[in-house]
Amino acid sequence: MAETVGALAILGPAKALAEAVGDQFHDDCLQRAGIETLPPADAVVPVAKATRLHVCICELADDGVTILRAGGGHSAAIFVSLHFSPLTRASARLMPHGLALRLIGRRMCQRASAFAGSAEVRMSLFDPIVYEIVDGPFSRGDQVGRLCHWQAGFLEGVYRQLLHRGYSCDETACCAEGAKACRFMLSRDIPSGAGSRAA
Ligand SMILES: [Zn+2]
Repeated sequence: MAETVGALAILGPAKALAEAVGDQFHDDCLQRAGIETLPPADAVVPVAKATRLHVCICELADDGVTILRAGGGHSAAIFVSLHFSPLTRASARLMPHGLALRLIGRRMCQRASAFAGSAEVRMSLFDPIVYEIVDGPFSRGDQVGRLCHWQAGFLEGVYRQLLHRGYSCDETACCAEGAKACRFMLSRDIPSGAGSRAA
């Protein structure tokens, strides 16, 4: 059976694409990727289909990387609404920071197939938060450089939505460059005196 990933790998980028370039270009891109209709949020889709959409966005749009990162943010919103209860969403910022990181990390590992397919995912539970994805589904192919823009935007989006808007995520190594694992590092840019214990 073909490797699958959460439908959010298509839905988030498709939404960001429509926002950035309009419906016509959006429809063309989906057609090129072989996506006839958008899947439901809780479905899984073939990795190959999601990858084709990501590559199409990068090839056809000048600001494809920016669109993919924004798409990751939209995907994170879907993921958070599906996998974190309203109570957790409301309380994560208020609980002790270490506890919130453990809670989020555990849930991310349980649901890793949604953003990493069948790849092995490792993470640190403490600051700095680091995710490593071994042979990730979006790091393969003919392109060069660091490729996992959607996953970086996704991880950033999850922590921004659950903890603080000051989180940002960089992919600091990628299997596409020969690294053993794609490595994503989250950092916080939070003004002193911002107040939240979670921040
Ligand atoms: Zn990568």
